[in-house]
Amino acid sequence: METKVWIVDNSNDLSLSYPQIAQAAALLMKNEVVAFPTETVYGLGANARSDEAVGKIYKAKGRPSDNPLIVHIATKEQLYEIAADVPEYVEKLIDVLWPGPITFVLPKRTGLSDRVTAGLNTVAVRMPDHPLALALIKEADLPIAAPSANLSGKPSPTRAAHVFDDLDGRIAGILDGGATGVGVESTVLDCTQRFPVILRPGGVTKEQLEELVGKVEVDQALIDEGHTPKSPGMKYTHYAPKAPLTIIDGSLSFFQEVIDSAKSEGKKVGVLATAEQAESYQADVVFICGSRRDMQSVAAGLYEVLRKFDEADVDCIYSESFTSEGVGQAVMNRLLKAAGHRIVKE
Ligand code: AMP
Ligand code: MG
Repeated sequence: METKVWIVDNSNDLSLSYPQIAQAAALLMKNEVVAFPTETVYGLGANARSDEAVGKIYKAKGRPSDNPLIVHIATKEQLYEIAADVPEYVEKLIDVLWPGPITFVLPKRTGLSDRVTAGLNTVAVRMPDHPLALALIKEADLPIAAPSANLSGKPSPTRAAHVFDDLDGRIAGILDGGATGVGVESTVLDCTQRFPVILRPGGVTKEQLEELVGKVEVDQALIDEGHTPKSPGMKYTHYAPKAPLTIIDGSLSFFQEVIDSAKSEGKKVGVLATAEQAESYQADVVFICGSRRDMQSVAAGLYEVLRKFDEADVDCIYSESFTSEGVGQAVMNRLLKAAGHRIVKE
């Protein structure tokens, strides 16, 4: 299959019609899969009402079929078409946070492909905060199922080039709208209980949610590894670079001892560093991922840096450790998964 690439400048007025968007939407309407930018990462979209279309997403990504997809919408009316029993607290959150990096899990209505929800009776819904994504969904006039547009297990794509590297020849097209902003995926919130429960930390923080609606719970599996996560996708290894990654929690001199010990075994060592500390490390490759003073900048750079280590062909990667507050919770969640939970404390 030839993968078409359409480049669109986001700064254009996308309420006007663009042939690139019209072509991409036409393919979605024909049950083909198309990648598009959102404010979190690139998504791989398909008609959520069609088994055939949704099947193509799983096939292109090599995604396990028991891992349900988030349905992306462009208007609030679409929410009521696909989900039922929307609690009042969700209405409140939507008013402030949509479009944005938060996904609500709600009882589903009929009409969606069962493959979207992997047989569950709930559906995950989100309105992305990206002009191109919204224009595309409106033009196709369909609910669009869209997981991250990477091969399953690889870091999520934050640029069209990452999508191309993973999926060229496997999908119908890619809408290239430049780099994404948030860099980690949406927060997934279970809204089928009395109080909302965070199933996956993401772009909207627990602190933000609590400020808006009071009590917010966190899935036990995020606190204690022994629990089975309620969000099926959370049980899979994700985001992993080729070389083993270890998080180092300690002083700079301890960090350097760890590097030196790997070097003495003849290994090519990579370090995931923040701008403040990058110059302190004597390693083969040091990649800077944001600034410690701004966790959002770390989130925005994380997946791209993990991909860069693959290109640099290192034997092992050591990463700085981060605070679990604010968007740091999502960053540490993704890093721990990428590291298979290997963390070395001083
Ligand atoms: P991705 O699309 O790769 O960003 O992953 C979507 C995440 O949402 C995965 O962790 C899924 O398991 C989760 N998810 C999607 N639908 C549901 C649902 N109905 N209930 C719980 N989690 C869901
Ligand atoms: Mg993903």
